[in-house]
Amino acid sequence: MSTLRLEIVTPERKVYEKDVNMVVVKGVAGELGILPNHIPLVTPLKIAPVKAKIGNNDEFIAVHGGFMEVRKDKVVILAEAAELGSDIDVSRARLAKERAERRLAQKQSDYDAERAELALQRAMNRLDIAGE
Ligand code: ATP
Repeated sequence: MSTLRLEIVTPERKVYEKDVNMVVVKGVAGELGILPNHIPLVTPLKIAPVKAKIGNNDEFIAVHGGFMEVRKDKVVILAEAAELGSDIDVSRARLAKERAERRLAQKQSDYDAERAELALQRAMNRLDIAGE
């Protein structure tokens, strides 16, 4: 089965680098499955799990927005933050989720509500990837 290189990088580190058979992401316009030799494209991503298919295995990475660049044999995802399940601190994500929910329940500016909504999505993405 042919492969493409998947790299997931943040400003701080390279989170993931492997040869995979398929990459599935949630772009702003919907879910996208990328196979080797896909046409080149760049798209913003939602806060959502990225799935890497390797043979019969699926690996999931929590990617918190950012951009995906697809080249012929390479996919690069650049995000503010991204974690593997084993990197995720579950109690920190639970606290972040509670904090965001509390903020959303308060009357506040649209700006603060938007920030709390994004923080909630990040926390839920982390809990999802950590299997919680
Ligand atoms: P918190 O309020 O807990 O800081 P956050 O969503 O605001 O959460 P980010 O700004 O997305 O955090 O991330 C800042 C840094 O901390 C990134 O390097 C990210 O990978 C890491 N990080 C955030 N939450 C967790 C977590 N629950 N487990 C492991 N790493 C985390």
